[in-house]
Formats: sequence, structure tokens, C-alpha cells
Amino acid sequence: TDDMLARRERLLGPAYRLFYDEPLHLVRGEGTWLFDAAGRRYLDMYNNVPHVGHCHPRVVEAICTQAGMLNTHTRYLHDNILECAERLTGKLPSEVDTAMFCCTGSEANELALRIARTTTGRKGIIVVDYAYHGNTQAIYEITTSDIPAEEVPGYVVTVPAPDTYRGRYRGDDAGALYAAHVHEAIALLRSRGFEPAAFVIDTIASSCGVVAPPPGYLAEVAAIVRAAGALFIADEVQPGFGRTGRHFWGFEADGLVPDIVTMGKPMGNGHPVSAVVARRELVDAFGNKGDYFNTFGGNPVSCAAALAVLDVIEEQGLQQNALDVGEHIRAGLQQLAKAHRCIGDIRGTGLFLALELVSDREQRVPDGALARSVINDLRDRGVLTGVIGPDRNILKLRPPMVISVADADFMLERLDESLQSISRHT
Ligand code: PMP
Repeated sequence: TDDMLARRERLLGPAYRLFYDEPLHLVRGEGTWLFDAAGRRYLDMYNNVPHVGHCHPRVVEAICTQAGMLNTHTRYLHDNILECAERLTGKLPSEVDTAMFCCTGSEANELALRIARTTTGRKGIIVVDYAYHGNTQAIYEITTSDIPAEEVPGYVVTVPAPDTYRGRYRGDDAGALYAAHVHEAIALLRSRGFEPAAFVIDTIASSCGVVAPPPGYLAEVAAIVRAAGALFIADEVQPGFGRTGRHFWGFEADGLVPDIVTMGKPMGNGHPVSAVVARRELVDAFGNKGDYFNTFGGNPVSCAAALAVLDVIEEQGLQQNALDVGEHIRAGLQQLAKAHRCIGDIRGTGLFLALELVSDREQRVPDGALARSVINDLRDRGVLTGVIGPDRNILKLRPPMVISVADADFMLERLDESLQSISRHT
């Protein structure tokens, strides 16, 4: 490992970060389990990209078969891209009916911004605080979790993340109160000489700490931005493909119809494929101004991977599994909270859960140091997870969708042991 660390530093430079005080060297994956070079196994409670399980044989076979037959691009006719577009639009409201393909979530969001700016003729973007949307220049500008405040351009303004645990509004009316901040954001943009083109949100606000928006928030925001002539972009890169259990997409929790939906990560189970699905008139207006070509986006192999993922989700009933096992984990975490005072909040839905660790439950004081110790200790006990949120005190539980109740119990037992051995507060 020391040799690999030195080579990484020399060959890749300092921008690449590793997880854990003692980095892992993984060599194989199967279902919810990962295996290191020494043959030790770890339960993967972190990775949502291998959505239907690491190295799912159906997806591997679909990729291999198509790669052995033909892989070209979107300038030739091919069934896979059409079937993929049909299947994806079939999962979305009928108004959101036209698909375009890319390779990463960043690229999909980048294209969504271009469509929004081209079709509205405006530049202003509204995002929530501490949002993550990707790594290209235009998307970095709206990735408020990464960009230093002084680098945020005038045409990007933020609204508070609709956090009902730590944020300023915590009651039943939180949805409407948080949404009202969008009026201020529009006014701020205008005072700087910009009109709003779009509001962009990760509908489970993952980087903010898995802050599922309170009821009514998304629908109210959509109404406000539309009245101002702007578009609503749902970034479904994290919550999409059934992860929240009750719905296939995060925005569905609030019953609104977005103008543009972006998706990626789980879509190819690790194969890089992403998409933008939008209202027809937006794609028409965009396409009439110029053409769109993406060398790899929408290629037959990528689409074969995406089709296999959709098949497996349906055939294995994985959205229902997300709901069932998610509820089981939630109930287990609630039990643990009785014994461990450091558990300040348990939130999330389906298989997108978060555990907020605090040093004082009443005052809700974030305990980032404890969270860091817990994830390192859990790693040593054979469970992989990570921390998120502005205070780095929130454990993210976001396993592959094939997780079983037995796996979940393994995680809950290890977490109990870990909190017992580490926490200063039990
Ligand atoms: N949107 C959200 C909500 C994300 O979490 C991410 C990745 N973490 C992205 C977009 C960017 O996706 P990618 O890394 O595939 O570019």
C-alpha cells in the first residue's frame, strides 16, 4: 500500500483524495460486497453507482455482448438509443418527453444549463446552499459546496437548503417559508442585471446532508420560477432510478412536472452514461439553433448497460426493496438512537439515509470529529460508509439497491459496536 500511495502522489498529484485514514485497495465486487487485495470483505453502504449491485451479471453481459457486436455513435441509426429513450421517457411525466444522452452527471447538467440559457435567452441560475452538481466550469459555478463564495459569479444566487433539522424553518410551514426565498433570489439577480434562466436542485439535497425537501417545497418553487419565466431543472443524479423507494424520481415526492430532468450515476451501474430529458419545445428550440454531438454519449454499449439496469430494477423489484430494507434500517437506527445520545437525527427515505452525529442533542451541535472516527472504525469492522454535510458530521447510508435485511442487520450491529467503542457521549 505504501508503494501505491507514493505512486499515486507522484503520478496523479494532490487533487485526488482517498477515503479513510487507512486507504482501501479493492480488487473485486459482488452485489453489496467489496473485497480487498487481502481477500477481506466489506459491506458497501456507500456506493449508489453500482445501483443493481457490483458487477451484476446481467449488466456485465449486456455490455460485453454489445461491445462484441458494435460500438459507434449517434450519427448512425441504432435501436438501443431509441429503446433507452422510450424506456426513460416512459418513467417520466408525459410532458417531459425528449431525451439527449451524455456520459456523466456533470455533462448532463452542463447540457441542461445550455438548454435553459439558450431557450430563455437569460443567464441567471438559482441553486441551494451547499449544492453539488458536478465538475465542469459552468457547473462548478453553481456547485456551492465546492466553489469559494468570492468566486461565485453574479449570475448565480443561492437560497437556503430546505433543512428542517438544522435550518431556520423547522415547522409544518417550512416548505412554503423556504420556497419564498426564491422571490428574494430572483430580485437579487435582477438587481445585478440578470434575469433567471433556471432553478436547479438535487431533489434529495445529498451534499447538504440528505435534506429531503419538506412537502410542498419543490412544487411551490416550480410555480415561483415559472411565473418569473424561468425553468425548473431536477437533478436526479442521486435520487433517481427508484432509490427513494416510494418513487422512481425524487421530484415525484411533490407531484410537480419539471422542465428538465438530468440523470447519471446509477444509470449504467458503473458504465459512464447519463441523460437529459426535457420538454419537447425546449429541445426543439435548442436543436433549431445548432446541432448536438457527443462522441460517446448514447453509444450502443452505454445504452445496452442502461437498458439492462432498467430491466434488473423491474425484474428484481428493487424499488420495493429500497422501501422495505430502507424502512428496516430506519427502524434499526431509531433503536440505536435510544442507546446513543450522539445520534441527533435520522433522515432520508428508501435507501438514501443519513445519520446526523452531534455532541449535544438538545443544542444539535455537529460532531464532525466523531463522524470521522466512526467511518474509520466501521471500515475496520467491515462496513463502508462516508460523511457529508457542511460540518462533515453526517453519515451517508446509500448502499446498492440489492441490499438484504441480513446485510442491513450486519451494518446495524457493527454501527452499534462502533458507537459503543468510540462515542464519548453514550
Ligand atoms: N449531480 C449530483 C446531485 C451529484 O451528486 C453528482 C456527483 N456526485 C453530479 C451531479 C455529477 O456527476 P458526475 O460525477 O457523474 O459528473
